[in-house]
Amino acid sequence: MYDVKSLKAEEFISDEEIKETLKYADENKNNIELIDKILEKAKERKGLSHREASVLLACELEDKNREINKLAEQIKKDFYGNRIVLFAPLYLSNYCVNGCIYCPYHAKNKDIPRKKMTQDEIKREVIALQDMGHKRIAIETGEDPVNNPIEYVLESLKTIYSVKHKNGAIRRANVNIAATTVENYRKLKEAGIGTYILFQETYDKKRYEILHPTGPKHNYDYHTEAMDRAMEGGIDDVGLGVLFGLSTYKYEFAGLLMHAEHLEAVHNVGPHTISVPRIRKANDIDPSSFENGIDDDTFCKIVACIRIAVPYTGMICSTRETKDIRAKVLHLGISQISGGSKTSVGGYDEQDYTEEDSSQFDVSDTRTLDEVMKWLMEIGYLPSFCTACYREGRTGERFMEICKSKQIQNCCHPNAIITLKEYLEDYASNSTKEVGEKLIQKEIPTLTNEKIQEKTKEILNQIEHGERDFRF
Ligand code: SF4
Ligand code: SF4
Repeated sequence: MYDVKSLKAEEFISDEEIKETLKYADENKNNIELIDKILEKAKERKGLSHREASVLLACELEDKNREINKLAEQIKKDFYGNRIVLFAPLYLSNYCVNGCIYCPYHAKNKDIPRKKMTQDEIKREVIALQDMGHKRIAIETGEDPVNNPIEYVLESLKTIYSVKHKNGAIRRANVNIAATTVENYRKLKEAGIGTYILFQETYDKKRYEILHPTGPKHNYDYHTEAMDRAMEGGIDDVGLGVLFGLSTYKYEFAGLLMHAEHLEAVHNVGPHTISVPRIRKANDIDPSSFENGIDDDTFCKIVACIRIAVPYTGMICSTRETKDIRAKVLHLGISQISGGSKTSVGGYDEQDYTEEDSSQFDVSDTRTLDEVMKWLMEIGYLPSFCTACYREGRTGERFMEICKSKQIQNCCHPNAIITLKEYLEDYASNSTKEVGEKLIQKEIPTLTNEKIQEKTKEILNQIEHGERDFRF
């Protein structure tokens, strides 16, 4: 039985409710009156239920689909302006005891070189990331209680935060590790993690069990209830995601939104971020063997519908997607992207780099961070390395409250400008710097609060004189 407040996976992600939702969406996919009503509600920018959003996703009417896109673009603009937050993944270890069929790190893959970084290697990787200009990373490991126990992750976090190379610093480390216990989540919280990210992969329990035939991850309930344990352990920023291509996208979409509704209903705070990866080619993995793969148009529509359904939630797109697709989805709702990413263990530092391919997936956008930065600015975005909220204790419910009151925009915008300035001073190529300086001059007058505008100008001046790490 469906119960949004239940702590049992099968009740808050009820298969029956999802199937009924899909039936309802299919029956109403051309119901103009209902679609108009849902769009009117969405314009209030308070989000939509999984049923309402599923009707929009199923809608086949061309003019209504145009309206959906337009509304998603508008909501994106209203909440995020032209800002895009940048981050990079950092793979610590690819040892894994699980059998996930879609991932080359699965335990039975004997072709892939296994690697676990030492703390010295991690230091070098972090220096390489800092030298690119990154301030925010997402650490990743396979699940392996012997090779990658929680102590290893905690020690690595300490190392990551301790490295300060030149003007560099990792100011926020998000963590993407396997579902674990409340006690371990508490330890991660104490170690100062940003968001705890765990992709559900698929909400379809039957598919889930087939795709995860062996290892602890086989347990659907334990995996699906992980975010509740993370919240119990004190982590109030959590990131959801599905791997599109594993089951039908409409099923995943409804499940994802039901999960978001569950977190809001139980913990008073919805997901901090939602990621939308699609299955990609990798060592031992052929995406064409997954019959539920989605095309680019469907992918864009999913992004637009998520943006409308959960306006306050950041949405992440990785380098799995090509430059062109990234440009499209940035427009429709994505607020964070990775740049200059390496998806292998030890991929950033030249000393640790090997020709052997140990990447988790093939990257489609292979540009450097500097190239991505320049491109973003040239197509009208303001790249940001801001990590202010986490460092000011604006997390969880507090963050959502500020977000909903729109106060946050008085922080995000100047913070984007000052973190961009830091990047331009310390890491940008000459041509990127030129584009960036012009952009900053254009952005300053758009800060409507006079005091904030003055303070921002002052900070920019201080950055030019060598000072760093300012925030609103
Ligand atoms: S998806 Fe994660 S848990 Fe599964 S095989 Fe890959 S690294 Fe291991
Ligand atoms: S001010 Fe907060 S919400 Fe805005 S970009 Fe910075 S960290 Fe994100």
